[in-house]
Amino acid sequence: MNRHQRRKAEARARKAMPGYQHRLLAAAPDLAAMRAVSQCMVQHDDGCAIFQRRPCNCVPDISIVPATGDSVYTIDEQGNAHRSSKQ
Ligand SMILES: [Zn+2]
Repeated sequence: MNRHQRRKAEARARKAMPGYQHRLLAAAPDLAAMRAVSQCMVQHDDGCAIFQRRPCNCVPDISIVPATGDSVYTIDEQGNAHRSSKQ
């Protein structure tokens, strides 16, 4: 990711609503198409309030590994699933 793309992603993240539940719900149709999700990883920022047992106040990275294990998907700020890599 070059500097322009990184700045664009940071600006998009600043505008994004914090939290992760709404993104997972928005991604539900995409996740249902995968038939089975074996692993969902939500990676919060170091300063996120969730580590003080309060609601999430960051825009975490969300990764999904389907049961087939042949791909990894990321959930963007709008709740769309994107294939990000192949294992
Ligand atoms: Zn968080």
